[in-house]
Amino acid sequence: MKIRQPIITILGHVDHGKTTLLDKIRKTAVAQKEAGGITQHIGATEVPIEVIEKIAEPIRDILKFELKIPGLLFIDTPGHEAFSNLRKRGGSIADLAIVVIDINEGIMPQTKEAIEICKQFRVPFIIAANKIDKIPGWESREGSFIKNYQRQSDRAKQELENRVYNLVSQLYELGFESDIFFRIEDFRKTVAIVPVSAKTGEGIPELLLLTAGLAQRFLTKKLEIDENSPGKGVILEKKKDKGIYYLDVILYDGVIRKGDTIAFYGIEGPIITKVRGLFKAKPLTEIREKSNFIPVNEAHAAAGIRILTPENDKALAGSPLYVIRNNQSKILEQIKEEISSIVFEEKEGLVVKADTLGTLEAIVNILKSKGIKVSKAGIGEITKEDIIKAQSQKDEKYRVILAFNVSPIESPVPIIYDNVIYRLLEKYEEFLKQLEEQKKLSILDRLTPVAKIEIIPGLVFRRKDPAIVGVKVIGKIKPNVLLMNEEGKIIGRVKSIQKEGVSLKEAENDEVAIAIEGVTVGRQIKEGDTLYTYIREEEFKEYKKHKDLLNETQKTILKEIAQIMRKQNPTWGL
Ligand code: GDP
Repeated sequence: MKIRQPIITILGHVDHGKTTLLDKIRKTAVAQKEAGGITQHIGATEVPIEVIEKIAEPIRDILKFELKIPGLLFIDTPGHEAFSNLRKRGGSIADLAIVVIDINEGIMPQTKEAIEICKQFRVPFIIAANKIDKIPGWESREGSFIKNYQRQSDRAKQELENRVYNLVSQLYELGFESDIFFRIEDFRKTVAIVPVSAKTGEGIPELLLLTAGLAQRFLTKKLEIDENSPGKGVILEKKKDKGIYYLDVILYDGVIRKGDTIAFYGIEGPIITKVRGLFKAKPLTEIREKSNFIPVNEAHAAAGIRILTPENDKALAGSPLYVIRNNQSKILEQIKEEISSIVFEEKEGLVVKADTLGTLEAIVNILKSKGIKVSKAGIGEITKEDIIKAQSQKDEKYRVILAFNVSPIESPVPIIYDNVIYRLLEKYEEFLKQLEEQKKLSILDRLTPVAKIEIIPGLVFRRKDPAIVGVKVIGKIKPNVLLMNEEGKIIGRVKSIQKEGVSLKEAENDEVAIAIEGVTVGRQIKEGDTLYTYIREEEFKEYKKHKDLLNETQKTILKEIAQIMRKQNPTWGL
């Protein structure tokens, strides 16, 4: 048994400093040349444990135990999309995540999503509370946060504490106990917050030491592997270089050798093939000329490697990749079963298409956690079948396709595109909101409009058959609405509305001429009268149900109408 390097990913909201932090970690490690610097992998960077010990020397005593892990393997691409492809049945091959939060901004939508994803894939995480150099009065410098903390003014310390407190309460709302790392007693129960500056390098020693310490303390079972067992990995990316497809793979268990038979999941189902070429990244010290890759005969976990097989073009990122020794049928079954929970078809729900298995799984899981059903989860471009499936949905909210990183096409059903998971979901939520609005508007459209009208003195154009009078409309009228007087008596129907000789379909808060059927001016109505649109009791109740859609004028007029009606019938509209 050997203990392998824990695989670490960096997540967080856009612009909170993921890329800068990863760069700073690399640079800090590379500066420790005598201690070994870093080892470059494909798609990942390894910081050996000697380097971490060296960087964290001044604060080494915050860990009370010896570090036995060989180092930390950082995935080179921060963010959800790469993380999604690190998927593994029911979890992730990432052992630990660093969630970067700009301490001055606090938790943002993608921070929430990052934490949600960690929770869902059961990946423990620590918080890098970044950009402490921007705290008013804070004098940031490279190196230990604890050592530097003592040098700060009381005011700066207070400013930091306020921000940490703010993070702690925001995390509490998301269901997590958290605290600044040096106050934590039980790291199993409390999420550690490590203040850092990716700009100056402050706090990097603490961040590295804690990451290593927590991984070793709580994940050792997961990290113990048999070096010579058949390799297990995941396809992080499929890359095309000079017309040839390569698979960038993170190996998390066992060994893979050139010539090995391997299985992975492809566009058309599971694939069995042979490893034709195996490549590692060139060491950092070598001048990187034509190629950054060197061919090797074998690789041991954990490692980031590049694989060449005759079937690479069909491979899917996010797929598991297994070395087969004499367990071919078992592994094929395993892959099929595993994929059946990601690529599936059911009756009711949304159609979701994505370019990789990992992103598809992440999107579907988030949708399901929000109670949104999925009728089809598929990989690749949108097909006619997808459109038909979406069109056939009974529920309007499912008559739409969510498309992640696939090409736009013409479609009679709406398609929501994006290549950022949280934006795709936001756009769908927006779509749902609009649908809701439309539904409400169409409810209002079916009801008799609410209006109070005054017959303007001196503007009687015709006394009867029909009567034509000038009116001031407060609210809205349409042809065909019934009008009543202030006693609640129906006096006639609006036959037509005109303004400056033009017929109108409606009039809102305006002065117009209306023709009223069935009345004679001087008998049922006279100049200066106030009339209302006649609202039936059921309609009034509908209006009450959708109060939020009414403006103040409409509400006032409805109140007046109710008062009139209740003179005859005290329980009207109640
Ligand atoms: P990402 O989108 O999370 O990868 O964020 P980036 O690493 O690209 O950083 C976004 C911006 O914040 C860039 O302009 C960085 O220079 C800046 N930035 C990142 N970390 C720090 C920090 O610790 N302090 C300050 N002042 N700026 C930072």
